[in-house]
Amino acid sequence: MTEAILPWQVSQWQQLAGADSEGRLGHALLLSGPGGIGKLRFARALMAWLVCEQPQNQGACGKCRSCHYGLDNPDLHIIEPPEGKKQIAVDQVRELVALSTQTAHRSGGRKVVLVHPADAMNANTANALLKTLEEPSGDTVLILVSNEPARLLPTIRSRCQQLPFPTPNASLALDWLKMSVGDAALAETCLREAGGRPLAAQVLFENDGLAARERCDSLLQAWAAGEQSLSQVIDGLKEVELDFYLEWFAHRIHALLVAVMAEQSDDVNAAWQRWLDRPPAAILSFQKQLLDLRAQVQRGVALNRQLTIESLLLSWAMVCSSANAGLGV
Ligand SMILES: [Zn+2]
Repeated sequence: MTEAILPWQVSQWQQLAGADSEGRLGHALLLSGPGGIGKLRFARALMAWLVCEQPQNQGACGKCRSCHYGLDNPDLHIIEPPEGKKQIAVDQVRELVALSTQTAHRSGGRKVVLVHPADAMNANTANALLKTLEEPSGDTVLILVSNEPARLLPTIRSRCQQLPFPTPNASLALDWLKMSVGDAALAETCLREAGGRPLAAQVLFENDGLAARERCDSLLQAWAAGEQSLSQVIDGLKEVELDFYLEWFAHRIHALLVAVMAEQSDDVNAAWQRWLDRPPAAILSFQKQLLDLRAQVQRGVALNRQLTIESLLLSWAMVCSSANAGLGV
């Protein structure tokens, strides 16, 4: 295993490598930025590099004993929610506290602990982690990865060396995506649908996400045009996962809102152009409701799938109802 960093992560890498060579690498790092841009991949490359016996400028050597073990290296630990769960358990963090008091297996080497996603810790778990952050052991580096650092305890954020990852440069992202998608125009569509996040675009491509989104768009359009009833639309959406649906809706609403504010419609999906005349305040308030629901799902709250889909469609109908777009319920 030696994962390479992605082309848009060079400056973050240089920043950390430079800090390490000058002995000012923090014992806790917080890698933050939107999901689907490769932070986890960067974190894995960093883990390998930190325990590599002959680290190179651009990453781990790939040849030494530490590299040979890959993620099975006993000095590397990954803390993530157990399978099927969205939250990290407090016991997992207690294990980490115990680990940080032991010395590394490789003499004179480091131990690295990755916590991913760091915002999957509740207050109890985060408080247990704080203990480690307050009493750092010299040879342990803690890497926290978060899509939503605002959800972390401020006391955790303030104890970490922060490394922000913005949405990558579009042309770098597109060049990279073209290697797996092949077709340039298709890669561009996938990247736009994923809001400029290349790894999210790749997932969309691999899982046939574009077709699924088109299906959601055409169902909504058919409903708006009075060609389908609400129950037909809900029935048509029965194969769609709730998080996919919320992601699709959030993406469309964001593009619509940006277009309404900027009075331009280039990035608005054709099926959504009919709503460019909706008042921004109404769209904003709907967006808040949508993002709250999405945050609940991301936190692992078990929402009733059908009720959530239905209530959002009805709220959206309210935003549309005073317009010429006659949405029938
Ligand atoms: Zn190595």
